[in-house]
Amino acid sequence: MAASPCSSGPQIVLFPFMAKGHIIPLLHLARLLLHRNITVTIFTTPANQPFVSDSLSDTDVSVVELPFPQNIDGVPAGVESSDKLPSMSLFLPFAASTKLMQPDFEQALEALASTTCIISDGFLGWTQHSASKFGIPRLVYYGMSSYSQGVSRCVMVNGLLSGPELDNEPFVVTDFPWIKLTRNDFDGPFNFRETNSPFMDFVREQVIATSKSYGLLMNSFYELEALYVDYWNQAFKPKAWCIGPFCLAESTKTDSKVSQKPTWLQWLDQKLAQRSFVLYVAFGSQAELSSQQLNEISSGLEESKVNFLWVTRKSESELDDGFEERVRERGLVVREWVDQKTILGHESVQGFLSHCGWNSILESICAKVPILAWPMMAEQRLNARMVVEEIKVGLSVETNNESAKGFVKSKGLEKMVRELMEGEEGKEVRKKVKEFGDEAKKAVAEGGSSWRTLNQLIDELQGLR
Ligand code: UDP
Ligand code: UDP
Repeated sequence: MAASPCSSGPQIVLFPFMAKGHIIPLLHLARLLLHRNITVTIFTTPANQPFVSDSLSDTDVSVVELPFPQNIDGVPAGVESSDKLPSMSLFLPFAASTKLMQPDFEQALEALASTTCIISDGFLGWTQHSASKFGIPRLVYYGMSSYSQGVSRCVMVNGLLSGPELDNEPFVVTDFPWIKLTRNDFDGPFNFRETNSPFMDFVREQVIATSKSYGLLMNSFYELEALYVDYWNQAFKPKAWCIGPFCLAESTKTDSKVSQKPTWLQWLDQKLAQRSFVLYVAFGSQAELSSQQLNEISSGLEESKVNFLWVTRKSESELDDGFEERVRERGLVVREWVDQKTILGHESVQGFLSHCGWNSILESICAKVPILAWPMMAEQRLNARMVVEEIKVGLSVETNNESAKGFVKSKGLEKMVRELMEGEEGKEVRKKVKEFGDEAKKAVAEGGSSWRTLNQLIDELQGLR
């Protein structure tokens, strides 16, 4: 597909980071832009191109492939997505490899007629250099909530992680005195205490590139976290524009290749026909679970007696012998890529046991499904606090040592699963998630807050030309 250089409207380049959780929201964003008659070009790599092109096959978006650097610093050949890394310890070399794409990126950029702006992932900070070289504004796509972004920035600039003696000792977040966190809430790149780690160097590099960029595109809506959006825009730069949830972008795509409904969809239809409610269980594309932990999950689900659809990346042999047979009537384990939005939108699905990736939270809110929060890594622990303590659309699993990496025992899991699906607390959060689900739809509809903000942004960008 070729770009259309003669179009006089805005022309926007999207460049997602190579991981499903980063690509998917930008594909939704592409649709939001296309609906405004914007010409959209997406940059990706050969192994990710089929997914990108297929997801947008009903649109006239242009997809440009850039070769992905091979065999760099232990990243196995052919791996062009951080989801496919054999271990997350290779994340930094993987992210660093993307920098080698700069010459190809710039060459491709030059070949486009006139680019109004580049929207690139927060992990692709190097694209800011290209943008400034070409005099094109860069907007940074931030796959985070304004809550997590504001809270973590406040913790970082005030050095709050060096205060407590113990990892589980609560401290108050200066600018949000009602929020008490512990060092355990901060994982990996968010552990700002380790100021000299290679991870922190990477984070700093991205933060600097972000601060030089034109703006932040937040996949969120103002009504969900107004305080945190305002906080950011009063204290920090660049300006954050709340234009989501992207997952509500309308699609006309029908899967013409699939003649039959996938097994999991047939199974959900069957549950709906029986008027049985289902808990959806999924931990995103990156989480790594031990076999011991998997066993606790299977016994917890088995004992809870609720219906469940569990999507796991693990192979059959890693689950307890006979588990699937024993729960056959009310539980389905799926090991393939599923359409999560369709699952959450299915009428039978009434609860989501989730790792609290930001996309999953937004998708759950938009589908009005309450969450049982089980954060695992990155900023998920902060997201989980937001879900449970701030916007109150979910409950939390109990971990044995309150750490982000805490082990969850089957008994505790069973109890919370039942509470979410059948209990009084479950009722409360179900009510709340419905309210926010309605607000989300209003925000992206004509005249809504996200709709207006996107219009303002497009007008502003047009004015720069
Ligand atoms: N693929 C690959 N390297 C990557 C990403 C994808 O070799 O970094 C291959 C992958 O093995 C599969 C195909 O491209 O055969 C489609 O991969 P995708 O991630 O889109 O879908 P999935 O593997 O989840 O079905
Ligand atoms: N997803 C999906 N099918 C799967 C697994 C994941 O559609 O089998 C989608 C999910 O709907 C979400 C994204 O992949 O849009 C995962 O993003 P999230 O932020 O929730 O978690 P991450 O995978 O980045 O940890």
